[in-house]
Amino acid sequence: MTVPTLTLNDGHEIPQLGFGVFLVEPADTERIVLDALEIGYRHIDTAAIYRNEEGVGRAIAASGIPRDELFITTKLWNADQGTESAHTAIDVSLDKLGLEQVDLYLIHWPTPKRDLYVESWKALEQIKAAGKTKSIGVSNFLVEHLERVQAASDTIPAVNQIELHPYHQRLAETSYGHDHGIVTEAWGPLGQGKYPLFELPEITAAAAAHDRTPAQVVLRWHIQQRRVIFPKSNNRQRIAENFDLFDFELTPEEQTAITGLERGGRVGGDPNEVN
Ligand code: NAD
Repeated sequence: MTVPTLTLNDGHEIPQLGFGVFLVEPADTERIVLDALEIGYRHIDTAAIYRNEEGVGRAIAASGIPRDELFITTKLWNADQGTESAHTAIDVSLDKLGLEQVDLYLIHWPTPKRDLYVESWKALEQIKAAGKTKSIGVSNFLVEHLERVQAASDTIPAVNQIELHPYHQRLAETSYGHDHGIVTEAWGPLGQGKYPLFELPEITAAAAAHDRTPAQVVLRWHIQQRRVIFPKSNNRQRIAENFDLFDFELTPEEQTAITGLERGGRVGGDPNEVN
């Protein structure tokens, strides 16, 4: 099964489907990431704050998969924003991952009250220039944060990783991304299981029509909108189910019905309030 890629605004390719490791216990991470790599995932999304970069690194090493076939993302934690602390933080992350370079390094949250994200963005530009990451981007940025970064820098973020699922579709951020060449990565693509998405008729009808699970329908809906996703599961069967998205296609009517489910249902923090 070949996962499609999207081209980032710096020319690098990103696999549209990856595996996320938020809330994967450090002690379980190596085994679970190895499961994902065996199933065929080549894109892993971690973060310093997940405390499982070592496990991701051990899985990468144990897998024997050539480094250039993998796409690894990690993130600068809020407490490490600022020039010097960002430079230290990427070195710590690379050391834990056992890598010389990640594919994508993100500012995890803007934390606007601390007002360090523009300075941190400039540090990420330097980190990229030093070859420690191929691409740089942001996460949980609202349009006002993206605009400030763009006004202060020549580098447009390659991605904005934001909470996005059928109940919370982020039209302002995705439109801005579309207009400025910023790929949208949807975190919580399944709504973190906090909403009854899998029981909604718009989703169960499409699942029945394509002989797929409701989770596969929701993930496919993201893929057809050209977003990057990395659903998380600890369960090997579900990890395989979430990878199996590329031999069916939702109809335009099915896509529209799912898009119609928007109801402002955020599951995570408000990016202006997470400080
Ligand atoms: P998700 O929407 O992927 O939901 C995960 C939950 O869905 C799990 O608890 C699992 O039990 C359930 N699930 C997974 N596959 C299923 C299936 N096939 N059928 C039924 N249930 C299934 O939420 P997430 O883990 O928060 O998001 C995915 C990734 O996004 C994370 O692992 C992380 O890498 C990233 N993330 C980033 C941020 C950020 O601030 N940048 C925040 C949260 C998550």
